Amino acid sequence: MSLWLSGIGVSRGIAIARVQKMHGGDLEVPEYTLPEGEIEQEVSRFYSAQRRARDQLREVRQQIPGGTPGEIAAFIDTHLLMMEDRSLTVAVVALIREHGINAEAALRRQRDGLVAVFEQMDDPYLRTRKDDVDHVVARIQRILLKSERQISPKVEGAEPFIMVSDDITPADIILLSQQNVAAFITEYGGPLSHTAILARSLGIPAIVGLRDARKLLRENETVIIDGEAGHVLADPDTKALEFYLRKQESQAQYRRDLVKLKGKAAISKDGVKIHLLANIELLEDAAEAIANGAEGIGLYRTEFLYMNRKGLPSEEEQYEAYSRIVAAVQGPITIRTLDLGADKQVDSGRSNGPTPNNPALGLRAIRLCLKEPELFRVQVRALLRASAHGKVQIMLPMISNLQEFRQAQHIIESSREELRNEGYKVADEVPIGSMIEVPAAAIAAPMLAHHSRFFSIGTNDLIQYTLAIDRVDDEVNYLYDPLHPAVLRLIHMTIEAGIHAGIPVAMCGEMAGDPRYTRLLLGLGLTEFSMHPANVLEIKRIIIESNIGELKRKVKRLMTSLDPVEMRDLIGGLDA
Ligand code: PEP
Ligand code: MG
Repeated sequence: MSLWLSGIGVSRGIAIARVQKMHGGDLEVPEYTLPEGEIEQEVSRFYSAQRRARDQLREVRQQIPGGTPGEIAAFIDTHLLMMEDRSLTVAVVALIREHGINAEAALRRQRDGLVAVFEQMDDPYLRTRKDDVDHVVARIQRILLKSERQISPKVEGAEPFIMVSDDITPADIILLSQQNVAAFITEYGGPLSHTAILARSLGIPAIVGLRDARKLLRENETVIIDGEAGHVLADPDTKALEFYLRKQESQAQYRRDLVKLKGKAAISKDGVKIHLLANIELLEDAAEAIANGAEGIGLYRTEFLYMNRKGLPSEEEQYEAYSRIVAAVQGPITIRTLDLGADKQVDSGRSNGPTPNNPALGLRAIRLCLKEPELFRVQVRALLRASAHGKVQIMLPMISNLQEFRQAQHIIESSREELRNEGYKVADEVPIGSMIEVPAAAIAAPMLAHHSRFFSIGTNDLIQYTLAIDRVDDEVNYLYDPLHPAVLRLIHMTIEAGIHAGIPVAMCGEMAGDPRYTRLLLGLGLTEFSMHPANVLEIKRIIIESNIGELKRKVKRLMTSLDPVEMRDLIGGLDA
């Protein structure tokens, strides 16, 4: 009998395959006290398990295939750092010694304490990070309990399978992705979990949060999953099987057609050339961007260089990182200066003052850089030195007034002088642009346009600040609407101001890579789109099929509407 189940679809695609359950799910952790003379031996047992767990992770890291999106290695690095953190080493040993208990019990007590702290956090992304603590702890725990999960090596010609498990770690995902895994179903996790992010990056369909999946699904039975809708159909009848096979084939055909567009220019039916650029965070992402046909980089988020480390990166280290990316990409590269604060926190040894009540409205991005000019200057010098190797543009995040732009520009210009005097090469042309992501900047765009060499619209923040909704707060997620007339008007005003002043206007927020909005943005006059590398071809296809002159006429009419529901209908009509 067929069985329908529903979870949270987090990585789209249809998969049809047999179930394979991940064994050794739940761990029974015993607790006992040790005789005085055995305590130090227990400490050694713990350290040796911890070392073995670390070595396993390092091995997995080395197995990451070339061309894999950079964030995957970054997740493993996070786990490695956690594994070596005092809270999971020295603190556990202290518990063993203090209470005279076994290593497993000490580790569990420490885990419970850490998870309780994460659970109290307001930020839903950070709350989800308790999963990382669990993954790291479970790896050590399994070694102590001698119940390690075995992921067997790849068998050539083996049938594809759908992995069903309680939860799945980034390391397991990497190992499974090298086998014939067709999809993942997990009992825990949400859309922000690492399982979800990694599955999306690897293009493997996934459903998370399907409680009791291991009980409800039988080993080896055939299952269909729709990773977009979050549906699971176990033991399907012939009719359902045929329906989903057809759907799967049409999706595969769509992807094959997209690949054919790689070498094609993004020119609309009526001859307008559109620039398609990529957003990247790591050097590895640059290769993916080029492979997907991006002409250059429209947003390089430099925060990753500052994350997961104790100290700040030196000028030399940053110079090398930027130069490697500049060398890897032929086209223009827009490097955004440090955007720390609010949703992007690091532990780089900076003195943290009291936690602000509204971090998104506080000392973040350009505000922080101007408050700590030495931090900014180190980055700016590295950027300017890297500019000698390619077409670098410097983009300033969260500009809200002209004064900030001018101050930053002054620091950049004086650093350039300094470098020249020191004998370094710097490109003659390093355009400095503003990110338009605060409503004030969009409204004052005509004035900023006289000073900026380019604009890039950061819709992720522009929507958050325009509609007064925290972008990482689940409770108000439903209000996050890119089609709100206020948001569309601000985008329109920014594009118009750029056209008037004769400077290029790009968009680098998520909206630019979302195929639902491409026609609307073309109709608003946008000519540069920067997005996750995986979206480039889909957006290119829409551009090639669009008549921009016609879209402009339709969008002009649509902009007179103030009703988001009507707006949505009208936008649906742009597809025609
Ligand atoms: C944005 O705000 O749209 C943007 C691209 O920047 P980030 O998401 O890094 O804040
Ligand atoms: Mg932003």
